[in-house]
Amino acid sequence: MSKRVVVIGGGISGLATAHALLTKHGIDVRLLEASNRLGGNLRTVRREGYLIDEGPDSWVASKPQATALAKALGLGDRLIETIPENRRVFMRTDRGLVPLPEGLMLGIPTRLLPLVTTPLLSLRGKARASLDLLLPKYFRRQTVDGDEPLGAFIERRLGREVLDKLVGPLLGGLFTGDVDDLSLLGTFPQLAALEEKGGLIRGALAMAPKGKSATRPSGFLTLRGGVGELVDAIAARLGDAARLESRVTEIVREGDGYVVVHSGGRERADHVVLAGPAHVAAELLAATSESAARELSAIGYSSAATVFVAYRRADVAHPLDATGYLVPDKAPGLPLASTWVTSKWPHRAPEGFVLIRVFFGAADVERSDDDLVAAARTEMRTTLSVTAEPALVHVARFRRASPQPRVGHPEKLRRVAEALPRGIHALGSAYEGVGIGDCVRQGEFIADRIGRG
Ligand SMILES: Cc1cc2nc3c(=O)[nH]c(=O)nc-3n(C[C@H](O)[C@H](O)[C@H](O)COP(=O)(O)OP(=O)(O)OC[C@H]3O[C@@H](n4cnc5c(N)ncnc54)[C@H](O)[C@@H]3O)c2cc1C
Repeated sequence: MSKRVVVIGGGISGLATAHALLTKHGIDVRLLEASNRLGGNLRTVRREGYLIDEGPDSWVASKPQATALAKALGLGDRLIETIPENRRVFMRTDRGLVPLPEGLMLGIPTRLLPLVTTPLLSLRGKARASLDLLLPKYFRRQTVDGDEPLGAFIERRLGREVLDKLVGPLLGGLFTGDVDDLSLLGTFPQLAALEEKGGLIRGALAMAPKGKSATRPSGFLTLRGGVGELVDAIAARLGDAARLESRVTEIVREGDGYVVVHSGGRERADHVVLAGPAHVAAELLAATSESAARELSAIGYSSAATVFVAYRRADVAHPLDATGYLVPDKAPGLPLASTWVTSKWPHRAPEGFVLIRVFFGAADVERSDDDLVAAARTEMRTTLSVTAEPALVHVARFRRASPQPRVGHPEKLRRVAEALPRGIHALGSAYEGVGIGDCVRQGEFIADRIGRG
């Protein structure tokens, strides 16, 4: 009898898994999604001539899996880069918006001159950062299970000032979290690898891309119609194999396989793929693996709200010649960052208008829409001197959407993998990487494992 696989969760992780099972391995697959739409965090909305990616709006080009998937789905000619002239990021400071030094790779300088000349750091801060070139490997390292906090790692290599004013806001923002709480190996293991190469700066210099920044390929890719195009294309391939409004409540062992119980019925499965958040996986594993459930339930999540404001171009004096800016200060009511959507992809607003996203963290997510819009407008007034009435406002919330890998995350994943019952697999943003490319990679890896097994 041929294998039957049930995938739980219709976010990009579950979609990529089901797509690979079906198209690459010809396996009978059923994808069960609790809500009334596919995509999970990938939500693309069209409103009044604007194209709004409420959550993720692109993926890191250096992780090739999402790009390869888009091409395999026939979306190769829909792939777009950001505008070359605007490929820089500002930091919001007391003195206004200051560009981040050119050539940062995950916040680490790949070129020395921009680091030496940046007004973002004091002379003392720069001197401490350059000590990284001389410090021995593992200088002052204190590990738990071979891992350490991301913040402590950056601080011991580059100093506290670089952590607070440069790297912390950048890397913490990618996880909507605090670098002092996040795991180094569970978030950016490639930074740990740089230390092996003789220090962060030396390692980053060796990996620096060649050529002028304006002629280099974009670091981020997306689709002309937003990341939702990826979701729609996979959904079209899956057809009836994907079921909406099918919230899984239980996984019961039966014979050599499982029965997956959901709000729309029951499904027999030889393999079950848990592609929802870790806390959902924990609940569903409670009956079959108490230890995997306990490990997964301990993975925390952060929340975010994104507020979109659009203005007439003429109402914004700033040239908006960047992808946006980061906010290093942490205080309720202050955003974590702002992205200038139309400075990356001009077609996402009607002619003569600009679209800006203001990104708020967990502390603000439960504020009312009116409050969030007011906070976004205050931010626009303070930072860009925009006082005009917005042409459009749009608010989106992402509750418990960003996993927070804590110190010891890789060891936790090893224990989970050991404890998972035969035929049950778990993947997604809480496991081996949070980006869209990471989720696709994990999904395709698990599909191959099932296909080969
Ligand atoms: C605001 C924001 C911005 C981001 N920006 C970027 C970016 O620009 N680039 C990037 O690469 N990444 C970005 N990310 C990260 C990326 O979007 C996520 O890591 C990724 O979408 C996670 O996909 P997933 O499938 O693992 O999980 P999810 O998207 O959370 O999907 C899980 C799915 O499981 C379903 N589900 C839950 N419980 C059940 C159940 N019991 N039964 C059936 N189904 C269930 C849910 O309804 C959901 O659809 C961002 C994330 C957020 C929150």
